[in-house]
Amino acid sequence: MQIAVCVKQIPDPATPYELDPETHFVVRPEDQIMDETDTYGVEVALQLAETTEGTVTLFSMGPTGTQQGIRRALATGADKAVIVDDPALKGSDALTTAKVLAAAIAREGFDLVITGTESTDGYTGVVPQQLAELLNIPSLTFAKRVDVTEDGSVRIERQTTAGYDVVEASTPALISVTSGVVEPRYPNFKGIMAAKKKPVDTVTAADLGISPSANQTIRSVEPVASREAGELVVDDGTGFERIVALLEETKVI
Ligand SMILES: Cc1cc2nc3c(=O)[nH]c(=O)nc-3n(C[C@H](O)[C@H](O)[C@H](O)COP(=O)(O)OP(=O)(O)OC[C@H]3O[C@@H](n4cnc5c(N)ncnc54)[C@H](O)[C@@H]3O)c2cc1C
Repeated sequence: MQIAVCVKQIPDPATPYELDPETHFVVRPEDQIMDETDTYGVEVALQLAETTEGTVTLFSMGPTGTQQGIRRALATGADKAVIVDDPALKGSDALTTAKVLAAAIAREGFDLVITGTESTDGYTGVVPQQLAELLNIPSLTFAKRVDVTEDGSVRIERQTTAGYDVVEASTPALISVTSGVVEPRYPNFKGIMAAKKKPVDTVTAADLGISPSANQTIRSVEPVASREAGELVVDDGTGFERIVALLEETKVI
């Protein structure tokens, strides 16, 4: 099975973000990490590749930098990576990103596409569904368990508020996985050394035969309003009355 995994490189959330004063975009450092959300997608892909004797190709759009995030995924066992690094795409919205990823994935060929549910920095949470639509394949979203059946279909347990639904589709298909679907493995020394020799193909939109243009501008950025101090009520034995009154005021009861 030929498995494509979308992995986004993001600035390390442990370091403060810096905004470009003119464009308001996040200044992307050379060293970016793989979004933790996507470590689950990579692990699911590796496990499926082991059981189906398949291959795992990583797809990422964004500034290449030191490729730290991509190399880490290669070190855990992915076979190769395709990075779309094109300054003309800076400021792309989710749909443009999906178009670019779809073109890159279609060019390589695939049986299964795996994504995270939403990234931790942009988090529109719509790239997976757009990607499936553009590739004209079914999307099985919010997977908390993924299996390949004997006839080569994919079956997932789809997380819902009440529990989960079992959803199945023939391949090619796209699956978005939730955090916690599996326990991502850590790269070992052998994997880290092997990753240095694995192919990383860096391409532009023109190489993919497409010409999408960045279409998103950020007019201003405002800090999140700080929370107002809460009201402290000392319980003199009638505290429950105050709680009931507050619940009524906010129409909870
Ligand atoms: C030069 C350049 C600069 C960029 N700068 C930024 C920036 O400052 N901030 C920013 O958020 N984005 C940036 N991007 C990336 C792109 O614009 C966003 O990925 C896109 O807007 C969708 O983001 P999202 O996080 O909301 O997607 P979501 O729908 O929340 O992501 C869901 C899943 O889709 C997949 N996915 C999403 N985006 C990508 C991606 N780029 N590559 C691979 N898989 C992906 C992942 O599996 C992810 O878990 C940049 C891209 C380029 C080329």
